[in-house]
This record gives sequence, C-alpha cells and structure tokens, in this order.
Amino acid sequence: ERAPVVTIDGPSGAGKGTISQMLATRLGWKLLDSGAIYRVLALAAIHHNVGLDNEEAITLLATHLDVQFLADADKETTKIVLEGEDVTTSIRSQECSDAASRVAAFPRVREALLRRQRAFNVAPGLIADGRDMGTVVFPNAPAKLFLTATAEERAERRYNQLLDKGFDVNIERLLTEIKERDFRDMNRAVAPLVPADDALVIDTTGLGIEAVFQLALKHIEQKL
Ligand code: C5P
Repeated sequence: ERAPVVTIDGPSGAGKGTISQMLATRLGWKLLDSGAIYRVLALAAIHHNVGLDNEEAITLLATHLDVQFLADADKETTKIVLEGEDVTTSIRSQECSDAASRVAAFPRVREALLRRQRAFNVAPGLIADGRDMGTVVFPNAPAKLFLTATAEERAERRYNQLLDKGFDVNIERLLTEIKERDFRDMNRAVAPLVPADDALVIDTTGLGIEAVFQLALKHIEQKL
C-alpha cells in the first residue's frame, strides 16, 4: 500500500458509512465507499437492461464503468455520477441494494473492480468502507475494524436513514432484505463477509455513534 489504510468492514446498517466519514474528516484522509461502486454497477446493469445473472455482461460493464466520485467543497459529502447522471440518491434504493449484492457475488466482477478500488489509496491515507476491505482489497492495512450489530437494530438504522432521504420504506421488508443480503454476502464463494484475522470487532448494538467513533479512533491511534 502506498499510504496508510484503515479498513472498515461489516454488514449493512452497522454504522460503517457514518463512522468512515467521521474518521476521514477527522484524519483529513480519502474515503472509499466500495459498496457504492457495487450499487452503481447494479444501476448501470438495470439501465442497460443487462440481466443481473449474466456474469459475463456484468463483468464487461464493471471493466468499463463510467463512474465519478466528486467530493463536495465541504468534503463531508460525495456526489456520485454514473455516465454523467447524478445517482447519489437513487443508488440507495432497496432495489439497488438487492441488485448490488447479486452482482457482487460474481468472482470476475469483483476482480474487475479491484484496481479501481486500490486506486483510492493515495496520500495522506485512506478509510476504506465495505465487506472485504481488510481481507481482500487492502490485506496489509495497518488498522482494521469490523462493525456489527443485531439485524433488528441495523434494519431500524437503515429505516431512519432511508426515511431521511425521502424513500418510502417498510421496516418488516427492510429486515427481511437485510437478512437475505447478509446471507448472500456471508455465504458467497469469493470474498465473503468475514472479519479479517487482525480486525478489531465492535458490536455496536446499543452504542451511540460517538461511542463507536471513539473506540475506532483509539484502535487506529494504537495501530498507526
Ligand atoms: O455497503 P452497501 O450496503 O452500500 O453495499 C451494497 C452491497 O455491495 C452489499 O450488500 C454487498 O453485497 C456489496 N459489497 C461487496 N463488497 C464490498 C462492498 C459492498 O460485496 N466491499
């Protein structure tokens, strides 16, 4: 790795996105939201009428994916642009979440996206948020975190996030989908969702964001 990397892995709704953004802001580092890449790829497949089970066509799409991550002036938010279209909000839909975890199960698709993800590793450092950041994409990262929480609590957090973004959501459906997505992510053959051997696992159930942030920061300061 060129610059230090902190990896933050875990299931959906564990607080990775929020904690990663807070860490990137605090340290003045770059942020990689790898889940957004899989979401954008899924949306591109839907737009281009590529079947979500067509590994070959999705791999081709992944190789040529025209996506830009544009940091806003305040550096607190990132605009995501697919083929010239602002998809920042639309990739958060439940349809895209589901489609993303389907295309993410293909080994060749993951392979095709490796270099794109590693290119985010520039000075002064990188916070990498995803499922396989510490195990596959940045195995030599000096500090690794794995955030988790009960499925019920994660569904509730996602519910509130999606409501804030103006989506019409059903909590029961969200919980079912989170469990299905966890199952797919944990049981796929390639890069399954699992903590790296050297990751600090934090169960965030019942913990506030600030408490998790402090635990994460302490771990990073010890490791760097
Ligand atoms: O993190 P997020 O919920 O945005 O990720 C969407 C989906 O993308 C996940 O359910 C997972 O299937 C996939 N993903 C992945 N590897 C990553 C990040 C996300 O397989 N590093």
